[in-house]
Amino acid sequence: MAGTIFKKIINKETPAKIVYEDDQCLAFHDVAPQAPTHVLVIPKKEIESLDDLADEDEALMGHIWMVIRNLGRELGLGDGYRVVVNCGRDGGQSVDHLHFHVLGGRSLKWPPG
Ligand code: AMP
Repeated sequence: MAGTIFKKIINKETPAKIVYEDDQCLAFHDVAPQAPTHVLVIPKKEIESLDDLADEDEALMGHIWMVIRNLGRELGLGDGYRVVVNCGRDGGQSVDHLHFHVLGGRSLKWPPG
């Protein structure tokens, strides 16, 4: 997974509209938004997918959920939003660096395709 586009964004080698950053994670606007607000939250640690999480990543994942909660408030998503993690080929994952889609700003349909 070395050299994914998200690793380049973490390293600031590729530009992105960053909305939040700390020592463990980064959040930035998706380049092809599927909703009025579409932000990706990623761990800085190179984890290929949800299926590649290690037991030691438990605290990191808890931290990311708190970041997502805060972003929902800061991005004005008080009417609700959806968090999506695509995992693997059948899950529709196209970038092999774990990422959480945060989608909001409109009423979202269910179920997904
Ligand atoms: P997924 O299909 O779940 O792997 O999602 C990957 C997401 O990354 C897609 O929504 C893409 O639009 C998004 N994406 C790909 N390249 C970039 C980039 N350079 N900056 C921001 N988002 C990107």
